[in-house]
Amino acid sequence: MHPNLWHPFTIQKNAPEPVKVKSGKGVWLELEDGRKVIDCISSWWVNVLGHSNQDIADAIYEQSQKLEHVIFAGFTHDPAENLAERLINLLPSNFERVFFSDNGSTAVEVAMKMAYQYWANKGEDRKSYICFEGAYHGDTFGAMSAGERNIFSDVFKDLLFDVEFIPYPQTWDGDEERAQKEDEIIDHLEELLTDNPDHYAGILIEPLVQGAGGMRMCSEEFLQKLHWINRQYDVLLIFDEVMTGFGRTGEMFACKRAQVEPDIICLSKGITGGFMPLSVTVCSAKIYETFLSEDPVKTFWHGHSYTGNPLGCAAAIATLDILSNTQPFKWLEDLHKEEIEKLKGHSDLHRFRIKGTISAMDIKTDGEDGYLNEVAAKIKKNCLDHGVLLRPLGNTLYLMPPYCITEDELRNVYKKIPLLLN
Ligand SMILES: *Cc1c(COP(=O)(O)O)cnc(C)c1O
Repeated sequence: MHPNLWHPFTIQKNAPEPVKVKSGKGVWLELEDGRKVIDCISSWWVNVLGHSNQDIADAIYEQSQKLEHVIFAGFTHDPAENLAERLINLLPSNFERVFFSDNGSTAVEVAMKMAYQYWANKGEDRKSYICFEGAYHGDTFGAMSAGERNIFSDVFKDLLFDVEFIPYPQTWDGDEERAQKEDEIIDHLEELLTDNPDHYAGILIEPLVQGAGGMRMCSEEFLQKLHWINRQYDVLLIFDEVMTGFGRTGEMFACKRAQVEPDIICLSKGITGGFMPLSVTVCSAKIYETFLSEDPVKTFWHGHSYTGNPLGCAAAIATLDILSNTQPFKWLEDLHKEEIEKLKGHSDLHRFRIKGTISAMDIKTDGEDGYLNEVAAKIKKNCLDHGVLLRPLGNTLYLMPPYCITEDELRNVYKKIPLLLN
């Protein structure tokens, strides 16, 4: 390990030596020692179009020759305006305003502040949020407060604010209790909102797939039921689509797949095709209007030095251009289905699930389910020996390939899965 580096999410004391990467092209990473590895997790879920995409690289280069950055308070520029228009056209019709920041955690932080202040600006005092067990929304304090309390946040627990956690109706192929689980959660939610109607600013959810929590998937129907709650009980609905955005669930956004119109949506990860750190929090006109006032107290006092960075915006526009021409989502989902069927007989695997370009399954072990399950370390090592980059979340194994993967390449990875378990 380099004497000056501190890696994220890494037990520095006993971590295996990090793998040095020399270059990346498409789905392939080339390591310093010459080995080639196929990136089946899109490098922490960001490289939706693979590595070193030429069109995105060109767009960033061209923008850098014109304007690399400018203060975004009191100034504006074409890349930000064009990107905002493009996003609004792709999102459900209630969305109107795009607020820029530069990573997923901050996009969630902004959404939580916006929702809170929306009620304050309306003269209502709503002090809490409804969040889901198993959630991951990022590593800043607000995002940590909204996420599952676990070993990662434990040392900070006295500093986190309280939210109400309800179960996530995770489901899988052949799950016969899905509707019942969903109804129980919806009943519970209705109880919370009936008992305490003025307490919750918003419901925050990772729609269709909880990412870091273990690729736990829920149904489109559940999101529709949530949407009904959202309108019936006048509480804001916030979708954290930091991971599910930009095609991951088989449609451009999970809210489109579920045909639901949330009030606020958070996007990052795939937004620049993995080239630049950028995120947006997009809200409806209804929310924005409560901030439109000459009273400075009602202003959204939030911003970052790199807000609306033109290079990030240029990368995002190039990404949208490519995504509008190539929508590989359907064939990827079909291929996942075909290959998962073949794995279903495997005695060590269960809870198979697929949503769009993501497939996941749990490995049966003697240990507890979850991120710290020791099977993860073994599989990570086996993967590299087989030339595959996979990074199990505890005992959950998942595939989230860049969309440029070919049919043969993906089938080959599936063929290796039984070998990785040994
Ligand atoms: C990754 C992730 C985040 C945090 O994004 P960062 O860019 O890592 O800060 C938030 N929400 C979800 C659903 C994520 O997957």
